[in-house]
Amino acid sequence: MKLKTFIHAALLTIMFTLTNIITVFASADMDGYLDRLEGDTLVGWAWDRNDPGNAVDVTVAVTRVLTGQVVLEQDATADGFRPDLDSETYGTQYHGFTLDIGWDQLEPGIYHISASVNGAKLNTLEYNNGDVDEPSGRSLGVFKTTAYCPCYSCSEGWGRHTSSGALATSQHTVAVDPRVIPIGSRLMIDGTVYTAEDVGGGVRGNHVDIYYNTHGETRQHGVRYSEVYLIG
Ligand SMILES: [Zn+2]
Repeated sequence: MKLKTFIHAALLTIMFTLTNIITVFASADMDGYLDRLEGDTLVGWAWDRNDPGNAVDVTVAVTRVLTGQVVLEQDATADGFRPDLDSETYGTQYHGFTLDIGWDQLEPGIYHISASVNGAKLNTLEYNNGDVDEPSGRSLGVFKTTAYCPCYSCSEGWGRHTSSGALATSQHTVAVDPRVIPIGSRLMIDGTVYTAEDVGGGVRGNHVDIYYNTHGETRQHGVRYSEVYLIG
């Protein structure tokens, strides 16, 4: 009886691990691009390398840089004809999408438009709604992003304590290489505004380590590459 329970538990563990691996591979196979804004209309494309015959759903988020607040989140299906997508690479050429943002419904300000497909992030666009003078984002380039949590192995025993003295908070704290990004800087990454308030032994160069509450979330984040904007 005990052995049977053990075997069940072991099988469950193996299945869970496999599911995780598949999820990671699947998100690495999502690809796409936010091309431009044509007036109110956002134009982009996205596809799944493993399933090029099917249209994927893209989640678009619009974040005001000044407040870090997501003011719009909407899905679009990438099934529009894009003759510029080479059919030999992309299978079908039906991977385009458009989305009306409705800028006149939003307060004047500087916004970032970001998008994701099954958790994989696309590039970010910046738009000045009403041509206002307020803090905007300056791109520092594409950085590697990883994740950490208060667990012993992630935090190197520090728990929620950061090198700057602040208590780490999710959706807020990131660790940086202070030679690249000064401690105290505000950063916008994939539509979320973070504050650089920690360092880490493995955080070197163009690398940002993002704080999460749980180890499961850090595993889900994995290793990504995103454009990092300095806000000021
Ligand atoms: Zn952890």
